[in-house]
Amino acid sequence: MAIATVNPATGETLKTYEPLTDEALEDKLARAATAWASYRRTSAEQRAGWLRGAADVLDADADTVAELMTTEMGKTLASAKAEVAKCAKALRWYAEHGPAMLEPERKDAEAVKANEAYVVYQPIGVVLAIMPWNFPLWQAMRFAAPALMAGNVGLLKHASNVPQTALYLEEIFRKAGFPEDVFQTLLIGSGTIERVLRDDRVAAATLTGSAPAGQSVASIAGDALKPTVLELGGSDPFIVMPSAHLDKAAEVAVTARNQNNGQSCIAAKRFFVHRDVAEEFTRLFAEKIAALTVGDPMDPDTQVGPLATESGRDDVERYVQDAVDKGATVLVGGTRVDRPGWFYAPTLLTGITPEMDLYFEEVFGPVAALFTVDSLDEAIEIANSHPYGLGANLWSEDEDERTQFIRDIASGLAFVNGMVTSYPELPFGGVKQSGYGRELTELGMREFMNAKTVWIG
Ligand code: NAP
Repeated sequence: MAIATVNPATGETLKTYEPLTDEALEDKLARAATAWASYRRTSAEQRAGWLRGAADVLDADADTVAELMTTEMGKTLASAKAEVAKCAKALRWYAEHGPAMLEPERKDAEAVKANEAYVVYQPIGVVLAIMPWNFPLWQAMRFAAPALMAGNVGLLKHASNVPQTALYLEEIFRKAGFPEDVFQTLLIGSGTIERVLRDDRVAAATLTGSAPAGQSVASIAGDALKPTVLELGGSDPFIVMPSAHLDKAAEVAVTARNQNNGQSCIAAKRFFVHRDVAEEFTRLFAEKIAALTVGDPMDPDTQVGPLATESGRDDVERYVQDAVDKGATVLVGGTRVDRPGWFYAPTLLTGITPEMDLYFEEVFGPVAALFTVDSLDEAIEIANSHPYGLGANLWSEDEDERTQFIRDIASGLAFVNGMVTSYPELPFGGVKQSGYGRELTELGMREFMNAKTVWIG
């Protein structure tokens, strides 16, 4: 894939980049190693101060970076601005709470015949982050804020279609006053990742992206015995039971499916509605989807912009066509939007069966698949039959149903009566083929730390 900015709202190529030469890449790896040798000795308070500085840089640059993201991958300008604000919040959150997370943990010294026993959390070194384009600032920041707070050094291999946002990410940390080279962007294609990952100066990797990319990185890292965190795909269930507030559930369902132009790992993608309320919920859901404004993502009235890439739009089109060919019913949408760029109409499908490709895969676009079920057991059974297990939603006022959902749903995140969202204050990650490891909170920070046991006699 060429490293280039191509505006998805028009299809126009705006800027292309040459990938780093071997020499330039070697230089960056050497710089990262040198940076870590001294950065690891900085104090938690110093690092917290730089994180606050980075948040201030983002606040100051918010409008320009939001426009850049919209231009590179098509998210609405309003959602791009919200993403910038969320990144600043995460930086400040780690600045505030990070130092306490890095305090040594005292253990029972007497029990182990020591004068002192404790666990000290130390950074592990240079971490390679391979990131996707869908939340181009947030995905990278979700890694960078805890990693830099911990005293690690970051190398970012961002998606090839967001090179300007990738370069801006390096700039944030430079402008914030962090020591030189603690966070560098590598403009490389995915074919060069193996070389970086196998390099002795790189200690670990995190990847947010598709399952095939995760498999590739995990197998190389496994061979090289380096730890990884994988945040992969999702096909989140959204279950609506008879006791649910239907209008509210339908409203959130529309946002949950169409946020970020339908391209979110934690978008609700499969909707399981109890038969008793299926007719009413389906009517409300269909009406609200049909009312969405699709158009230029820079326009403040637009709610759904284009898909980020032409191949992404082709994939969505293929999934819908395959479902229709095998008997699905299109209640809303089901077609491209007739305008330049890679637009696809928000779509609602019913009559989904396991023969259809979208049943066991992930549709990365604004297509909702609605199932009518007879019980919560049935909803959970079908939901859990999917290979992914990232987030899950339940809409119910019934305490027993909530307990059953939280106990039985195979996911890393279970949200009741609200949309699955990532917050710096809560751990984030999936199970099964949605990946492993956690991001955010102290769990995310400790994924890339050495929990060193100290015993002093
Ligand atoms: P993708 O193709 O896997 O790309 C993600 C990143 O991996 C890019 O930097 C890409 O580089 C790189 N990459 C691609 N193929 C690779 C390979 N074989 N080995 C190593 N790296 C490789 O994913 P996408 O289609 O852009 O993004 C959508 C996917 O990401 C969806 O499945 C979505 O659910 C998932 N996602 C998950 C989360 C989460 O937190 N769980 C969050 C957001 C998105 P190039 O751009 O150069 O190809």
